[in-house]
Amino acid sequence: MVRSEGVCKSFGRLDVLKGIDLEVMPGEVMCVIGPSGSGKSTFLRCINHLEKINAGRLWVNGHLVGYRERGGKLHELRESEVAAQRRDIGMVFQRFNLFPHMTALENVMEAPVQVRRIPRAKAREAAVALLERVGLADKARSYPSQLSGGQQQRVAIARALAMEPALMLFDEPTSALDPELVGEVLEVMKQLAVDGMTMIVVTHEMGFAREVGDSLVFMDGGVVVEKGTPREVLANPQHRRTQDFLSKVL
Ligand code: ADP
Ligand code: MG
Repeated sequence: MVRSEGVCKSFGRLDVLKGIDLEVMPGEVMCVIGPSGSGKSTFLRCINHLEKINAGRLWVNGHLVGYRERGGKLHELRESEVAAQRRDIGMVFQRFNLFPHMTALENVMEAPVQVRRIPRAKAREAAVALLERVGLADKARSYPSQLSGGQQQRVAIARALAMEPALMLFDEPTSALDPELVGEVLEVMKQLAVDGMTMIVVTHEMGFAREVGDSLVFMDGGVVVEKGTPREVLANPQHRRTQDFLSKVL
């Protein structure tokens, strides 16, 4: 579903990603951990076309991200083609970014109606089902300001799912939540994983990584230091940098 080969990204003279090699298989849940500033968010943003990579190759769902390869040369995609590629990907951020003037239901319906041109009645039906799936059937008519952080984040997940993505990216989705609200969001994510969604999850929730993750990646300084099953990496980290990081967070 995702293949990253030697992906590099710099901002000016700051090299943030220094050759990321990773693969995510369909249905896999890959958790990513690492210190602040190690390039985790930047990597997700590259996958989701929010940043352009400077070197390497990145594929999502069989498509080269942002480019077409012809005769050994890369050609940039047109904006409409980029938009089509992005539709395969749902992203959930630390901050929920819901539209404040729309109800939960309207938030979930918005992209299917505006972007996919799905008739409102059909989009509404799908949105109701999605809100049910994240446990918020009774909050369809509530505005974001009337919802807790955990509820808002679950609406954000439903909204991302409304575009029927092949891949879901989560960037520290519970970091901004009060501790007692973390569990309900992780539970929704876990159910999504059980249902077979391919997911990349940047998180500090080691319990989630251990229980739900198929693989665990430790990033530091713009490189993948270590990758393995969560059990392997957490119980028996091979690299000094991973050991140091885990000793601080576990
Ligand atoms: P993480 O998510 O692991 O904390 P980030 O990917 O957010 O790390 O950031 C990695 C580094 O890239 C940081 O030093 C950050 O300041 C820098 N960075 C991220 N985005 C930009 C940007 N748009 N312009 C300049 N520097 C950036
Ligand atoms: Mg980040």
